Formats: sequence, C-alpha cells, structure tokens
Amino acid sequence: MADATVLAGAAEVSAQLADFYQDLHRHPELSLHEHRTGQRVAQALRPLGFDVTEKVGGTGVVGVLTRGAGPVVMLRADFDALPVQEQTGLSYASTVRAAGEDGVEVPVMHACGHDMHAACLVGAATLLARADGAWSGTVLVVFQPAEELARGARDMVADGLLQRFPKPGIVLGQHVGPLPAGLIGHASGPVMAAADSAEIVLHGRGGHGSRPEATVDPVLMAAHVITRLQGIVAREVPPAEAAVVTVGRVQAGTKDNIIPSAAELGINIRTYSPQTRELVRAAIERIVSSEAASSGAPRPPELTWTLSAPLLVSDPSATQATVAAFTGYFGADRLLPMPVVNASEDVGVFGEAAGVPTVFWFWGGLEYETALAAVRDGRIDSLPGNHSPHFAPVIEPTLSTGIEALTVAALTWLGRPPATS
Ligand code: ZN
Ligand code: ZN
Repeated sequence: MADATVLAGAAEVSAQLADFYQDLHRHPELSLHEHRTGQRVAQALRPLGFDVTEKVGGTGVVGVLTRGAGPVVMLRADFDALPVQEQTGLSYASTVRAAGEDGVEVPVMHACGHDMHAACLVGAATLLARADGAWSGTVLVVFQPAEELARGARDMVADGLLQRFPKPGIVLGQHVGPLPAGLIGHASGPVMAAADSAEIVLHGRGGHGSRPEATVDPVLMAAHVITRLQGIVAREVPPAEAAVVTVGRVQAGTKDNIIPSAAELGINIRTYSPQTRELVRAAIERIVSSEAASSGAPRPPELTWTLSAPLLVSDPSATQATVAAFTGYFGADRLLPMPVVNASEDVGVFGEAAGVPTVFWFWGGLEYETALAAVRDGRIDSLPGNHSPHFAPVIEPTLSTGIEALTVAALTWLGRPPATS
C-alpha cells in the first residue's frame, strides 16, 4: 500500500530531526521576531525540492511541492516562542533573553511546543517529498509566525498567501499538549475557543487622597467595572452557552494618598459561538461606558480591541475522514476523543479566508507512564501544560507521532497518481 511505503521512513526521519528540534528549542524567538527559525526551516525545505518563499507576512515561510494535477493540501505549523523563563532542566533548555513587546528584556522559551510543530512539519515534508509516485497534487507547507499574538495567520493572508501560492482545498494542523505521548486527541466542530482581548482606559480626575470630593476616582470606577463584568457570564450569557471574561490586568496609581487620574484594565474573553462572542463584546462596551458615565467621568473611556482569534472549527465531515485514517494507521487505542479546549488558536483564519475546511487535532507530549499514572490518580492537571516553564514534550514518541499524523492526514486529502501497469 502506497501510504505504508511513504510512512515506512518515519522513524528514520524523526531520528534525523531530533537535533533540528533541539536546536529550535535552544534558540526560541518571540512572536514577530522568528528570523533565525524561519531561515532554519527554509534551509531544511529547499534540499527536499520545495519551492520556498521566506518573509511571508513578516517571518513566515511557505513551501510548495507539486507532483502533477490534484488537490492542494495545506499543512500548517506555527513557530513562535513565549516570554517564559525555562525551568525544565533539560540539556537543551533555552537560556535566551530578548527584548519584549515594550523593549524590556525578557526570558524566552518554546513553552507552547511550537518548535515541535515546526520540526514535525519539516518531517512530514521530508516523507512526502521522498514519496515519489505515492500521491498527486500540491503540498503547501506553511510555517506561521506570531501565533501567540493571534496575528501571524492574518498577517500571512494579508501578504497574499492565498493569491501568491496555490490555493488550498483543505487546511491541516496540529498542536502538542499535555496528553500522554503517542496519543492523538481529536474533536469535531468547535475545538478551540474564540479569543478577544481589550485594553481599557478609564478616565477620572486625580487629586489628593484626603479630598475625594474634588476628584473622580478611577480606582473605584475600575472596581465597579470589574465586578459588573462578571455579571455578563452569570446573567447575560444563556446558561447552555459557555464564555469566560477575565480581567487579567489592572493598573492605577502610584501612591496611597494620591487619587490617580486614570485606571487601565486588560480584559480577555473566550467564547464558543459567534452569537455569544458578539453578545459578550457588546456587553463589555456597554458596561465600561455606562459605569464611567455613572461615576461622573470627565471624559468617556477608551476601549481598544487588541487581539482576536476566531473560533476554531474542525470541519465535522473532513475531521471524520481524517480521524478514520488516523485510526487505520495508529490503531484505535492511540486515539482519544477530546472536549473543547479553552485556549485559542489563529489557524482557523486560513480556512476561513480560503473558504475551505480546517482539520485540527492535538497530540501528546507527556512521558507516557507519568501521564498515565496522573490520569489514573485524577491529577492530570498537576502535569505541566502549554505555557508552563516546565512544559517539555519528550522527544520520542512525540516527534515521530506528530510527523506521522501530519503525513497520514496529508495523504488522506492528496490525490492518487494514475495507476501504471
Ligand atoms: Zn501558546
Ligand atoms: Zn500554541
């Protein structure tokens, strides 16, 4: 069988890429600064015969490999890192520091496993490039920057991803996470939440802490806004719908006896349907402006929506076909049905912009026995997950499973070359 031939080299390719993975892990780069990572990926793709374009939508890399007529299948990996101080103790742990968004130096770590995503996509590209005669069509590999800012996908689309390169008929992607290594987690329909962030400035009138009557206190205003915002999920979102409203940042004032002139809030929301998303966003805008008005604010508050990742929908019928192929290859005991994940991903932007289905799955990176014992004892949440300073996927079988999953999924959607006798 052609697919079995293609995948026969998976273990060898995975072994060859262990160094590549460790190199990416040792040299993480913050979102929008993935220059070295982009170069390393491009260098790995070119010898395989891919037509490679760098700097798409910033530091993104696109590779195209066409073998005759047939479907265009897009495989996507993200490759940015996070401002986290690595505490894994690994021999290849990151000690990198770099200037963060505000110019202040921060530690940098691949704490979300995007280095694993990139290495696996290079591995799948290698297997597909080697498999002459096993498939027909076009493989489009997309290495996306700035996923953690929920903007890299949009930046690549805005830079002409869908015009400059063959337009995909399907988008395939995966995320490594805190599941036992070797297992694939799958879900259908909404799989990851929509995320939106807002920055809010509440204006008051500053003055002496002993003379509140001469001021408009933005701290009290902020306190009311924060409390009132919690009423959105409790009282406005229908009970059968889920939503999260988190105020993750509050800043005001410099000293106990000074009433400041402004207070800032950073808000993050997660929703699972377009209707709820609109409801929550509108409620936040209403509450912020009316609480300011009822406090007698000298001028209206400023509210800026800063980040937005769409609801990630894994197309039900395309997911079913892909999961059937996974089951055929891995066996049912390596597949795990998953609940909706509260985190967010901007991969959905590609399929939305192209008007084609997206299939997205998760796979495990935790040492199998440790993870299994934790599942048995009901303490899976105690194991380090994505964004933790201790998050460190075991290289095997994580790398080979990720390579195989991408390759199996790609072969599910690529064409078959005409049979030759
Ligand atoms: Zn992340
Ligand atoms: Zn991630």
